[in-house]
Amino acid sequence: GGRDGLEVYLEKPESYPSNVVIYHNADFVAIHDMFPKSSLHLLLLPRDKTKYRLHPFEAFEDAEFLTKVKAEAQKLRKLAAAELRRKYGKESAQEQARQAALNADPPPDELPDGRDWDKEIMCGIHACPSMNHLHVHVIAVDRQSEKMKHRKHYNSFATPFFVPIDDFPLAPDDERLHPTREGYLRWDLKCWRCGKDFGNRFAELKRHLEEEFEEWKKL
Ligand code: 5GP
Ligand code: ZN
Repeated sequence: GGRDGLEVYLEKPESYPSNVVIYHNADFVAIHDMFPKSSLHLLLLPRDKTKYRLHPFEAFEDAEFLTKVKAEAQKLRKLAAAELRRKYGKESAQEQARQAALNADPPPDELPDGRDWDKEIMCGIHACPSMNHLHVHVIAVDRQSEKMKHRKHYNSFATPFFVPIDDFPLAPDDERLHPTREGYLRWDLKCWRCGKDFGNRFAELKRHLEEEFEEWKKL
């Protein structure tokens, strides 16, 4: 439990049902976050014992390891994108256009692509993780979750406190290497979608995010 709470998934991934552990192989375990901060929030846990207790900044200094983690995160992002399509595809205008083209007789020469759900997913780490075992967040951008209850929850995914995995390796002078934990997490609340500033008015932000969610699904 506590800060070592992710260790059990690394040790006995096979003992969890598929609504907890999504998949596991020799090098990685992919799980659902127990306190999701979006409608879809997964964690990728590397199993390499020489790395899994290191801070991500230190673990990702190993270029070969970083390449492996990036590739697996990309794989999990694809799974997450397919799940978003399953959840919200029916409400999406771009998906509807594709479906209409597929159903047309005769079908058009150019088939629309449908929605790129990959773009709606963020993969990255927290500059100051609260859990000890190395984990990469794979999280939908929507921030629709009853577990998203505090400014720090929101800002941990909405400020430079969240470092996208594709930003690694970081340049030695990157400011995010020296996070002032309180600093980023106490920033004003800004809507991830339109940038509107809610100051510290969390309840108002939450109401706004529900409206943004409805619009976002329909793209
Ligand atoms: P961090 O802030 O360390 O980057 O994020 C740790 C994440 O682990 C959080 O999103 C938190 O909700 C999640 N978490 C904490 N304890 C557990 C647990 O026991 N099981 C699972 N599946 N996720 C957890
Ligand atoms: Zn907005």
